[in-house]
Amino acid sequence: MDYKLIDRILALSNLMGQADLAYIEAGPELHVSSWNPGAAKLFGYSEDEAMGRFLNELIPVNKRDLTACRSNQFLTCSHVNAKGENILCDIHYAPIMNTKGEKLGVAVLAKDISQRVREKESLRKQEENLKDIFGFAPIGIYSVNQAGRIVSANPEYAWMLGYESAEAIMEQVSDFAAQTFFDADKAEAFMLGIRESEQVIRFRCRLKRKDNSFVWALCYAKTSWDEHRRRNGFNGFSIDISETVRAEQEIKKANEKLKMLSVIDGLTQIPNRRRFDEYLSSEWRRHYREMKPISVILCDIDCFKLYNDSYGHPAGDECLKQVAMSISDCVNRASDLAARYGGEEFVVVLPGTDRKGAMAVAEDIRTKIQGLEIRHETSTAGSCITLSLGVASLVPSVDNSAEDLVALADEALYRAKENGRNQSVESTGFKTS
Ligand code: GH3
Ligand code: MG
Ligand code: MG
Repeated sequence: MDYKLIDRILALSNLMGQADLAYIEAGPELHVSSWNPGAAKLFGYSEDEAMGRFLNELIPVNKRDLTACRSNQFLTCSHVNAKGENILCDIHYAPIMNTKGEKLGVAVLAKDISQRVREKESLRKQEENLKDIFGFAPIGIYSVNQAGRIVSANPEYAWMLGYESAEAIMEQVSDFAAQTFFDADKAEAFMLGIRESEQVIRFRCRLKRKDNSFVWALCYAKTSWDEHRRRNGFNGFSIDISETVRAEQEIKKANEKLKMLSVIDGLTQIPNRRRFDEYLSSEWRRHYREMKPISVILCDIDCFKLYNDSYGHPAGDECLKQVAMSISDCVNRASDLAARYGGEEFVVVLPGTDRKGAMAVAEDIRTKIQGLEIRHETSTAGSCITLSLGVASLVPSVDNSAEDLVALADEALYRAKENGRNQSVESTGFKTS
């Protein structure tokens, strides 16, 4: 290709215009002889204003340096241009020499770098801010590489795990999963989660502290990628939630206690009516499936109103406590349940027991209460506290219900009262054996 020199100069000047480069030439006395649009834009003088003027008056390079220039020179400077704009520019200048080595003038190439410098400064500021946040954030922040080493950590993360500084945790933790999880299965689940998901994974776990104690933490982690989109580890946050977990555990305990209290009778400290209802209905279903008999004994203190009248309500309460305790003592199997049915009435559930067995238990209870010999002079059934008991037994089926069982026991109890009290009577309805 044979381009003329002039074509090449034109192409070059076009290119410099596109790249926003200022190109200036000046003669030996420093009079400007060439001033391109880039120079006009950068230094604020039009070509007409600049041509013929002293170069050192238009650009931030002094006369002495321009005159003395014998080789390529470079400087970066800030400058207020003719339009009053603050600019930052890189300036290259060099002597224009002829073939004989005589200096004919100076050529200058300059570029506005204000934007680039501003961006760099803003990036530096952002980085500084992030570093600051990283340093004082009240949550643990860390990065782990593919080999499982902690490569960066903030102080909070180190403190949370009982290390004295971020440097210490980075030095001492070389196997993240094994060294920072208190529970091995959680560590495994975490590493699997990180490997399989590109999303943030969130989980709650116990983190192992340097002294082998633990701290409850809420953790977030996400895979990190290198510039070729290859996994190169993960970044994570850990928040100490020990206080929250402790509070939750206390609430759970309190709830359990409350639940317990809700099924215990306040006076006698044996299960209450609610517990009886729940228990009978669940045992009823079980016995329905297993087609086995289940029995209920209703126990009622004889002439208790008269007892209260004679000895006072507090003595009545004491008596109820003693009776409750004795009835509970008579039911020995783990599945048996004695409960306060209401007032001076008690109930016993005997799973897997037929009416014969239930009658035997009823008689045990009756004799035991009589044996307490709690004086009751005004009773029509004797001179001490006695019980009347109604016993019923059923094999659950489609034709009967738990309510029927209780109704039958109640009916038997009624007959025990009718027959003169202090006795056990078995139900005659729905005979099971
Ligand atoms: P019966 O032999 O027919 O069962 O006569 P009774 O007097 O035992 O039966 P009634 O239903 O007439 O009276 C029950 C009494 O039990 C009346 C009530 O004051 C008393 N009672 C119920 N609950 C309590 C309690 O928690 N403490 C005390 N001290 N008495 C109670
Ligand atoms: Mg009663
Ligand atoms: Mg009574």
